[in-house]
Amino acid sequence: MATYDYDLFVIGAGSGGVRAARVAAMSGAKVAVAEEHRVGGTCVIRGCVPKKFMVYASEFAHHFKTAKGYGWAIEGATFDWPTFLAEKDKEIARLSGIYVRNLQNAGAELAHGKARLLDAHTVTIDGLGTRTADKILIATGGRPWRPSGLPGCDLAITSNEAFQLAELPRRIVIAGGGYIAVEFAGIFNGLGVETTLVHRGPNILRGFDDDVRSHLTEELEKRGIKVLLGTQHTAIEKSAGGFVSKFSGDHETESDVVMFAIGREPYVEGLGLEAAGVTLTDKGAVAVDGYSRTNVENIWAVGDVTDRINLTPVAIREGEAFARSVFHDTPTRFDHEMVASAVFSQPPIGSVGLSEADARKQYGKVDIYLARFRPMKYTFTGADERALMKLVVDCASDKVVGCHVVGPDAPEMIQMAAIAMKMGVTKAQWDSTCAVHPTLAEELVTMREKHQPMGLGQVA
Ligand code: FAD
Repeated sequence: MATYDYDLFVIGAGSGGVRAARVAAMSGAKVAVAEEHRVGGTCVIRGCVPKKFMVYASEFAHHFKTAKGYGWAIEGATFDWPTFLAEKDKEIARLSGIYVRNLQNAGAELAHGKARLLDAHTVTIDGLGTRTADKILIATGGRPWRPSGLPGCDLAITSNEAFQLAELPRRIVIAGGGYIAVEFAGIFNGLGVETTLVHRGPNILRGFDDDVRSHLTEELEKRGIKVLLGTQHTAIEKSAGGFVSKFSGDHETESDVVMFAIGREPYVEGLGLEAAGVTLTDKGAVAVDGYSRTNVENIWAVGDVTDRINLTPVAIREGEAFARSVFHDTPTRFDHEMVASAVFSQPPIGSVGLSEADARKQYGKVDIYLARFRPMKYTFTGADERALMKLVVDCASDKVVGCHVVGPDAPEMIQMAAIAMKMGVTKAQWDSTCAVHPTLAEELVTMREKHQPMGLGQVA
């Protein structure tokens, strides 16, 4: 039998790779992890965590406005970007350090450098030479995608750079309609930056429920974000005052920063997948089965590089399922059904299960329960902010197959709803749950009237 340097070599110390390496090492396996940037990956270094801190920072402007309605006088509040950046970076460094220690405590070795496959059992790491391994896990994540043919495209930043801007711009144009674009629009707007969100599609947040999409667009506009739909960049040019974004329809906007958040792609460049014989999907992701196995017998892949559901908890669960299956003799498949997600827009979204449109396709007849109302907290502010709650119920089984919330604390609410829905809760059981009063969430268990589709504008 061939002998190798390691039982497992993991490429990428992000959410999926770190979890897989730790769980595998706990079985007594000899494990190494290569990381070309910083341990923690996208989530910790330039994704979920720093993004959430930026959301927190930016929400204060709105809290201050609300506070005035309650009698508080808040004069002269100012925001200092460098102070915030320093605090954020300190915390990110602390978290990255915890990831390193967790790997070391589990007995996994860390190799700093870009790793590339030479064949199915051999990896070369920049500056460190080659290593061999019985099994290999690809957990290299994703990276921002840029439209290479667009003139001036290189003048734009992506989310990677948005976390490290030397100074806060006065004006920003953000291209994209996905959750990252929408979240950054809220962040910059909240921090006082004149914000324009440009999306080529007819509405933001493709894949989410249509009522949620329209509702959020209205709320973003109420908060002062300029939303340009059906519009895309044709060029970006440098100007005396910053950058000029030229758009389809022959109009243009000047800003200090242009940010592209128009999508992400699996990060497979320079990985040597061809040398190992690993096949990709037609979208360029590593093709895997339900157990995260690639077409090469001793190579697996988890997380964003497989482009299944690109979220941190999913990458973690896929990594864990891989390690349990392969190193703990416990075949484990992560179930990708009913994965709840949040959009930390302002106001935020929590969503689990199917949109109304997808549920109609899948089940045929569905009942809709929908409420749109002003959250109690805003009663004194005079602001016309609305929350939205929507349930989608399969008529045949009475099961709640979709739950969508837009409003304060929606991401916190949806985690709980997801438990019940994962267990297959029926609308009758949902309704038998007594409300918690006075909360926003109580509306979810008190929606009894079926909603007649008539367009959001007419909903009370
Ligand atoms: P990653 O975490 O990306 O880790 C991959 C690692 O591999 C990286 O550290 C990379 O440097 C390393 N690497 C790549 N190639 C090599 C190589 N050849 N050699 C050595 N190392 C290599 N998800 C949520 O659930 N909630 C959120 O709120 C959320 N917000 C996000 C906000 C932003 C701005 C972004 C960009 C993403 C966000 N995500 C969020 C998505 C989440 O970050 C990813 O789904 C998650 O990090 C995927 O984990 P992963 O292990 O697949 O890859």
